[in-house]
Amino acid sequence: MKKALPVNGLSVDVEDWFQVGAFETVIDRDSWDTRDDRVERNCDAILAMFAEGGVRATFFTLGWMAKRHPAMMRRIVAAGHEIASHGWDHQRVFRMEPAAFARDLDISRKAIEDAAGVAVTGYRAPSFSIDQRTPWAYPILAEQGYAYSSSVAPIVHDHYGWSTAPRFAFRPLDEAELVEIPVTTALLAGRRLAAGGGGFFRVLPYGFSRWAIRQVNRREGRPAVFYFHPWEIDPGQPRVEGASMKSKLRHYTNLDVMADKLRQLIREFAWDRMDVLAAQEAGRALALAA
Ligand SMILES: [Zn+2]
Repeated sequence: MKKALPVNGLSVDVEDWFQVGAFETVIDRDSWDTRDDRVERNCDAILAMFAEGGVRATFFTLGWMAKRHPAMMRRIVAAGHEIASHGWDHQRVFRMEPAAFARDLDISRKAIEDAAGVAVTGYRAPSFSIDQRTPWAYPILAEQGYAYSSSVAPIVHDHYGWSTAPRFAFRPLDEAELVEIPVTTALLAGRRLAAGGGGFFRVLPYGFSRWAIRQVNRREGRPAVFYFHPWEIDPGQPRVEGASMKSKLRHYTNLDVMADKLRQLIREFAWDRMDVLAAQEAGRALALAA
């Protein structure tokens, strides 16, 4: 009998084009409210795409965003998707003190729960910013009752990465059930390659992602975790002046073909919400710990 392939985690990090980490030095947070707000139309297009593909996903949302777009939060929930937290305003965890992180988590969860009308149990750190510098982050997440985090990129990267972290779900604390589910990497000649979405998915040929997720599902027998952003399917977004060539290249390449690539990805693999994946992986992480 053929063994069933794992169901993968599909996620959207809900932030707008002016909130991305790569532009934070040229776009002041104070100017966010004056910017061309494109998140609703992009999220509605994503909801239509998910409905067409028959998949459920998790929307990791900024508290800042939930406060301004409560109706959109409710549309996401009504369509059967999970709403989880992406922090308040995209401040990276390793740039915060523990007390500021606890406050950021608390205010963003309240804003998201008020807007969406459902409980938040999952967290994704902005720019995968939980790493070896933030050992205090997991105890705070556990204390605030989070069931899972998907906040680690177990690779070497210029903006982020915890290169020695486990590649698959692990329990960071002995005394809590909290599960961390890192974003997907594939192994090639012993090296870890980022294969969980974002710019890599958009810029590289689709065949790379298909190869990587197949490796993880078939050879390693584990679920993949994939993410993208609403602005990545929006070729009409305003162009940011003053950012570095590298940031601009990463941000603007292939925006026009992203939606088609996503449709193919949705068709070719099995997907579900991150909380469903976390519940499955928790059992596995516990079994490994025992
Ligand atoms: Zn983000």
